[in-house]
Amino acid sequence: MREHDRLFIGGEWTTPSGTGTIDVISPHTEEIIGRVPDGTPADMDAAVAAAREAFDRGPWPRMTPAERAEILGRLSAIYAERQQSMADLVTEEMGSPIGFSIFAQAAIPQMTLQYYIDLAGTFTWEEERPGMLGPVTVTREPVGVVAAIYPWNVPQFTFIMKLAPALIAGCTVVAKPSPETPLDAYLLAEWIKEAGIPDGVVNIVPGGRETGAYLVEHPGVDKVAFTGSTDAGRKIAAACGQRLRPVTLELGGKSAAIILEDADLASTIEGFKLASLMNNGEACAAQTRILAPRSRYDEVADALATMVGGLSVGDPADYTTEIGPLVARRQQERVEGYIRIGQDEGAKVIAGGLDRPHDRGWYVAPTVFGGVTNDMRIAREEIFGPVLALLSYDDEEDAVRIANDSDYGLGGSVWTADVDHGVEVARRIRTGSCGVNMYIMEPNTPFGGYKDSGLGRELGPEGLSPYLEYKAIPRPA
Ligand code: NAD
Repeated sequence: MREHDRLFIGGEWTTPSGTGTIDVISPHTEEIIGRVPDGTPADMDAAVAAAREAFDRGPWPRMTPAERAEILGRLSAIYAERQQSMADLVTEEMGSPIGFSIFAQAAIPQMTLQYYIDLAGTFTWEEERPGMLGPVTVTREPVGVVAAIYPWNVPQFTFIMKLAPALIAGCTVVAKPSPETPLDAYLLAEWIKEAGIPDGVVNIVPGGRETGAYLVEHPGVDKVAFTGSTDAGRKIAAACGQRLRPVTLELGGKSAAIILEDADLASTIEGFKLASLMNNGEACAAQTRILAPRSRYDEVADALATMVGGLSVGDPADYTTEIGPLVARRQQERVEGYIRIGQDEGAKVIAGGLDRPHDRGWYVAPTVFGGVTNDMRIAREEIFGPVLALLSYDDEEDAVRIANDSDYGLGGSVWTADVDHGVEVARRIRTGSCGVNMYIMEPNTPFGGYKDSGLGRELGPEGLSPYLEYKAIPRPA
């Protein structure tokens, strides 16, 4: 049991203003594994004040990028050394299978941090441009105090995607982890303190959506970075619009995997274990609409049902587990609700269904629906669990049309024996990323969504821009 009774504010472990607490419950055992304070508006005020002070008067924004990189390098080294403990903790909190967790809940966050540290050395922070009347210095300045709000499904990755570029830019940060997964943020806070990042540069206040909404609207905040649901994203965008506050939004998805006529079926279906079912299907970029050519529909349906029906579902800490429990009972019920909706809509369960694989823990059987049409809710709405919808298409044109017929535009993939042709098809998909014969998010390439999947990009140099203001200083020749 990890009991935290303080908040990380101003570089200190401070006493919270309220008495409310958040219980963190294991999705596998349904037992309480940790407890943290439930942040109040007064706690947010204190956190924003600390971040404001560190930004307005502290050393951090005044250091050179190289100096900041050196300090962040200490954090990166600690992270690299102890990443197994981070992976174990996130798995315990939210049920990510440990094999996936080591990679996505710890290694990639650390690599993302290191990527921005390295970028500091090559990024153009300042340049001279010739102007009409004389030279102009164009410089990049940190945007200020950043509010970072993120979800429970990949808590470290979605936090570090904001924290690393914000810190290298010279910003200070107030983070609000999800109530389901605050413990990993506490572990990171310990490492931040140990690395010697100046006081007030990072502040962490766990809490629910009201606490998040309070932070978004706080007058001391200069920029909001959000990952979460499209519904919450709309509210946050509206609040930021009212205040003309810059905001980046990474929201939901309903991505398509297009199997082309010439695809090798065995490797394609194997590839879906990651592309479509990563993190128990609790992944914004999961490719949950599988598009098969009508001529190969039956063979795809059989192979997909066999693969999904054969997945090992169980204790996420077990290295042989492929699908763990969902984050919360609420999520289990939501996903089961969608399985009922799919049945009511006339789609056919060809693997899985409503029988729970385990009595204890928030497990749902990995499920495939066959005979899905793109107007069904199970093809249009984000389910956020291990539920796949199999659709058929007539020809490539039709496949591209179906893939693009979505309110979302986050990820996708094309599966083919002809990689060059796959790239051509990927170019036609209106999403922020689209893989060929694989899907991955790379620290050095932009990630984000078209349409209802969000605004702006994270990762890569593109993910640094939202944390910078650009300033021109013209002067006489
Ligand atoms: P959520 O939107 O309910 O919550 C996300 C975070 O925002 C939490 O910290 C929550 O407390 C906070 N929050 C909720 N409403 C808020 C508001 N009005 N103002 C301020 N803060 C608010 O989402 P969730 O259920 O925790 O996470 C799942 C969602 O996240 C899915 O829709 C998924 O697609 C999305 N997601 C997107 C990406 C991406 O990069 N595009 C990555 C991971 C998850």
